[in-house]
Amino acid sequence: MFEKILIANRGEIALRVIRACREMGIKSVAVHSTADADAMHVRMADESVCIGPKSSTDSYLSIPAIVSACEITGAEAIHPGYGFLSENAQFVQVLEDHGITFIGPTAEHIRIMGDKITAKETAKALGIPVVPGSAGGVPDLANALKVAEEIGYPVIIKATAGGGGRGMKVAQNAEELQNAFRTARTEAKAAFGNDEVYMEKYLQTPRHIEIQVFGDGKGRAVHLGERDCSLQRRHQKVLEEAPGPVITAEQRARIGKICADAVARINYIGAGTIEFLFENDEFYFIEMNTRLQVEHPVTEAIFGVDLVREQIRVAAGLDMSFTQDDLVINGHAIEVRINAERIPDFAPRPGKVNVFHAPGGLGVRMDSALYGGYSIPPYYDSLIGKLIVHGRDRPEALARLKRALGELIIDGIETTIPLFHALLENEDIQTGSYNIHWLEKWLAATYG
Ligand code: ADP
Repeated sequence: MFEKILIANRGEIALRVIRACREMGIKSVAVHSTADADAMHVRMADESVCIGPKSSTDSYLSIPAIVSACEITGAEAIHPGYGFLSENAQFVQVLEDHGITFIGPTAEHIRIMGDKITAKETAKALGIPVVPGSAGGVPDLANALKVAEEIGYPVIIKATAGGGGRGMKVAQNAEELQNAFRTARTEAKAAFGNDEVYMEKYLQTPRHIEIQVFGDGKGRAVHLGERDCSLQRRHQKVLEEAPGPVITAEQRARIGKICADAVARINYIGAGTIEFLFENDEFYFIEMNTRLQVEHPVTEAIFGVDLVREQIRVAAGLDMSFTQDDLVINGHAIEVRINAERIPDFAPRPGKVNVFHAPGGLGVRMDSALYGGYSIPPYYDSLIGKLIVHGRDRPEALARLKRALGELIIDGIETTIPLFHALLENEDIQTGSYNIHWLEKWLAATYG
């Protein structure tokens, strides 16, 4: 087992990894920008290294700075968290060349799931159902019209290099497609420096269902069921739950096995998430994330496992500590993302937190790097905490979420907490009747 791990991240996810290290008797190294000198992850780690100025390009994204920090402190492995360098194949390659273990998949796994066309082709070849669409990139309008005729309208045009929900255009008919195709290419070029686009059938009212997979790198893999992340604003997840309110045990077993078999076949190592749109009882692959997800705690809650501990174990060459048969769902879990943002327009609201009081009690987990007197810097993501509740069933989890939100105090800044108080009063949320468009519609109806 490793003696020392460096965490190439900040905020709540850095704390999450430090906590796993401490329970495993592993020393932790925090890295930080000058703007984060007084951040909680720096205080909580055994050691810390300043790796650059406030701009993340020159700090949390600087491969040379992070490799140097590893060499100075003698850390043998790096946990990337999510975001930043977590899905950067070049970073993983550099670490491989330096003899530093990356706690995650290989550079090759990241590459084959990196750009969206390659990911879709890989998924298809591995027996995963995908959204009907073009075979690869669509070079011109004539081809686009042909593809649309074949798969039927409405269609969605997506950037091959896309991410973060950007660069997508929907067309209802051939006339709309002319414009949509042109704008999608222009926008893709501007946003990603690559104007290649591809096309898919546009699903009208799907849910976002993602399957958690885990591999040992030696051809064994399991699935840990699904998370329903359909409550989204601008394709950004706001609330996640597990198990999914509409997924049956048979559907879970079927898609779960397809996903576990697929990652086992490529000797995948560590945690991964295969994302699907789910409509009319069918799953359609959209992408795979080759890292730990923000919403992993809901899966941990219902299966009683520590996914970060498992990541560290398999990276050190050990076996997973569970088999598929050990993984039995217990109850229901919900996570809400607390962002330093103003409701209703979600404008970022960083600033000084005067008082921070985390909720507690049975089945409540608060993952946050806040403390009273801390000033949230304006340079990074606005996620400041995740409140996760676990109950014997969905109604109990909802009641617990309401109770825990009532105890949570973040004084001094505006946050997304009021949004969740309002959502919990809604009948569709109480019954789990929502799809990927529900939240945007509700926001428009509620706040105008
Ligand atoms: P990104 O990597 O930019 O987040 P994804 O391919 O994961 O892009 O898609 C993000 C979101 O866009 C999905 O969760 C869904 O809301 C919507 N979306 C993507 N593809 C389709 C499709 N074929 N039909 C309907 N909605 C889609």
